[in-house]
Amino acid sequence: MPIYEYLCNKCGKNFEYLQMGGDGSGIQCPHCQSGDISRLMSCFATSPGQGGGGLGMASAPGGGHKCGSGGFS
Ligand SMILES: [Zn+2]
Repeated sequence: MPIYEYLCNKCGKNFEYLQMGGDGSGIQCPHCQSGDISRLMSCFATSPGQGGGGLGMASAPGGGHKCGSGGFS
């Protein structure tokens, strides 16, 4: 499944969104509910089982980007 990463242009936070066949319209920032978002370069989906993949856990404090940070075991 494609998981896309988005950046909110309003609050500056990034989040992941599991896109299921749609065109991505209507996605809102889970932090501030703004629709002013940009899609970032997609990462490979992390393996299931990492906390259930809830949207609330998508953004790490400090703006750490997990792409390329060696998250795979
Ligand atoms: Zn936001």
